[in-house]
Formats: sequence, structure tokens, C-alpha cells
Amino acid sequence: MNYIVFDMEWNQPYSKESAIQSPIYLTGEIIQIGAIKLNEKAQAIDCINLLVAPTFYRKLHHRIRKMTGLDPKMLKDQKKFKEAIAEFREWCGADCLMLSWGYDDLQILRDNLLMHDLEEDWLPPCLNLQGIFNHQIAHENRQFSLEHAMEMLDIVPTLQAHNAFNDAIYTARVAKCLDLREGIRNYPELNGILWYSMHGVKETFPNFRSRERALADHRLKKLSCPICGKTLKVRHFTEIDEKNQAAELQTRHGLLSVRLKIMQTQKKAYYIKRTVRFV
Ligand SMILES: [Zn+2]
Repeated sequence: MNYIVFDMEWNQPYSKESAIQSPIYLTGEIIQIGAIKLNEKAQAIDCINLLVAPTFYRKLHHRIRKMTGLDPKMLKDQKKFKEAIAEFREWCGADCLMLSWGYDDLQILRDNLLMHDLEEDWLPPCLNLQGIFNHQIAHENRQFSLEHAMEMLDIVPTLQAHNAFNDAIYTARVAKCLDLREGIRNYPELNGILWYSMHGVKETFPNFRSRERALADHRLKKLSCPICGKTLKVRHFTEIDEKNQAAELQTRHGLLSVRLKIMQTQKKAYYIKRTVRFV
């Protein structure tokens, strides 16, 4: 099985009004696909760099032009998305796993496939390397940028950033510093930790007559682990200020922060917002 480390660049609409709204709000149209193929030992064995002529957002946004260094003239005579993606698919081969830095590229790829009425069921499984990087290198739960990750690994940037091909090269270099086997084996857990550190699990406990009654609700101290579902119990919350309370819980996946926000409706009923996230 090979790893396909990929990165994309996309053009964006000039304004909300000129954005494609249907069947989805199209935030970006792919104009470059870069990828490095690694074998099971994480050695680079092939690469691909495709420029794509835009269909929906034909005018290259000045910001994208500046950021990527891509020029409208360079894109004009390139393959359209349908052909480019067919070439990419062929190049990927049958038995592979896709690796990216962050969640955005995969989402944009899916959106673009949908816009062109193309199936996505051929897409190999795609993993975000950030959770694996956090666990093995950073020992911290947050979304590191590729640049920051490279810096932590002493990878000196010499190529222009924000070019899909160059970023794919750099992502592959970061991937080579990781124990991919271990990371992939534990991916659901590592990705879950990253995901829940970003988004948290938010719940609302409504309809209390007083602040005291709201805070006395036993349900506030009981929660299930977002990763494995195990029941967890908070011993006590510390008051931060009048409206906020917090606690921390040690789990086998790391430290969970539990925060309570005490709110009031217009009709003066109290309710509590609880947010649970990995820190
Ligand atoms: Zn758990």
C-alpha cells in the first residue's frame, strides 16, 4: 500500500454575491493539485503536479494570485477539473491511503467533485496528519500550521509556500518524521482528540428557576468520554467568575476541560451551557 500525500490550491469568489450557492456554497475551486507518492517505508517514489483551469470562478482572486504565485495565463489552457481529477485518480492507483495537513483540502476536493457531478466513492481513506503530529511530536492539542510543524522538525523552507506541489513536498517531509504505522493504527483516537480540542462537545441544560438550582443539577458532573464513551465524573467545579465555572478531568486520552457557562433567557429562566474539550 502507498501513501498519497496531497495538497491543493483553490480560487475563491470575489464576493459572497458572486459565490456559487447551489447545490452547495462553493468556498473554493481547485486550481492546483500536488501530491507525493510514498511507499510503505515512507520513501518518495513518484509525484504529480496538476494545474487546473477554473470553471466557476474564472477570475483569479488577487489574494490567491499573490499567495500562490499562480497566474491566470498559467491556468487558462490547462485541463478542466474533470480531466485533471481523472488523471489524479489514475495516478493514485488502487491500494493507497491519502494523507493531508488539515481537513480543508479533503473538504474542498469533495465540494469540487460534487460541483462537477462526479462520484466521491473512489476516494481512498484520507487522514489528517495533524492529530498524529500532535501526539508524536508536539505533545500539544492544537492545529499547528504546516510552517510551524516544519519549524519544530527543523525542516528549512526553501521552496515557495502556498504552492500545492511545494506544500505536498513539505507535508511528505513532515510525514517521514512520523511513525505512520503507529499513527494510523491509533488514528480514530488521535484524530478524535484533535477534533474535540478544536470543536468541543457542547450541551445545554435548560429551564432552571435560579442560578443555584441550575448549578446543583447532578447531570452537570456526569459526562461520557467523547472518544470511548466511558462515563466520567467531575468531583467539583471551580468558580472562575459569576458566570463561569471550570473543572479538569484526566482521561486515558489526555486532559479534558469541562466548562460551564451560566446564562439567562429573556424570560429570566436560567440555563447552563457545558463545553467539554481536550486541552
Ligand atoms: Zn475515553
